[in-house]
Amino acid sequence: MATLEQLRKEVWEANLGIWRGGLVTMHSGNASGIDRRRGLVVIKPSGMDYDRMRPADMVVTDLEGRKLKGRWKPSVDLPDHLYIYKHCPEIGGVIHTHSNYATSLALLGRSIPVVLTAIADEFGEEIPCVPYVDNRADHIGKAIVKYMGKKAPAILLAQHGTFAWGATPRAALKAAVMIEDVATTVHLALLLGKPRPLPPATPLTVRLPQRTHDRQYPRRPIPPARLSWPHGLNDYCLS
Ligand SMILES: [Zn+2]
Repeated sequence: MATLEQLRKEVWEANLGIWRGGLVTMHSGNASGIDRRRGLVVIKPSGMDYDRMRPADMVVTDLEGRKLKGRWKPSVDLPDHLYIYKHCPEIGGVIHTHSNYATSLALLGRSIPVVLTAIADEFGEEIPCVPYVDNRADHIGKAIVKYMGKKAPAILLAQHGTFAWGATPRAALKAAVMIEDVATTVHLALLLGKPRPLPPATPLTVRLPQRTHDRQYPRRPIPPARLSWPHGLNDYCLS
């Protein structure tokens, strides 16, 4: 079983992943993970530069948001992460970003329909857009749980951004990267015309269990941050 320090490292890697992938700007966005056996949540500190963060900077709280470990204040979005963890026992990692293309669709209140094979493969259904909700207390978390789909591991928040999740912080990172990827393509297509839905007979792929995914796509080291758009999940991760 993973230790708390391993979870801190995983959550740190997921936070670096969204920064390296260009999904966040300055201090926006955050990634978290949960150790359900111990009832501990690990999340990015509030207002810290992504490139300065170390695993030990990740803040550890309980499921009520009480800080147990760490020098810094937890992300202000902690209540929303906690609400999702409390109401979705299968979720082990959560990520929030304001990634530009996905947020441009969210700004218009548009869900992302199944118009690409990548959407069918990665999300299995339309990616819903939650009507606007303010960010006080856990209002966003409540709205996400209310509107989340049966399969899609991500959601758009009208006039705000995205939330993505998965069995682990790394799986949540994949969903955060993929929603921005498909949103970019859909956004560009909308500039040229009207995307067509996939034929109804198109089978929607069942996502690989995380262990199978990690076996097929083993982690590998990557060079320091770069400006070009990475090509795969491993390019967002340090190890
Ligand atoms: Zn936000």
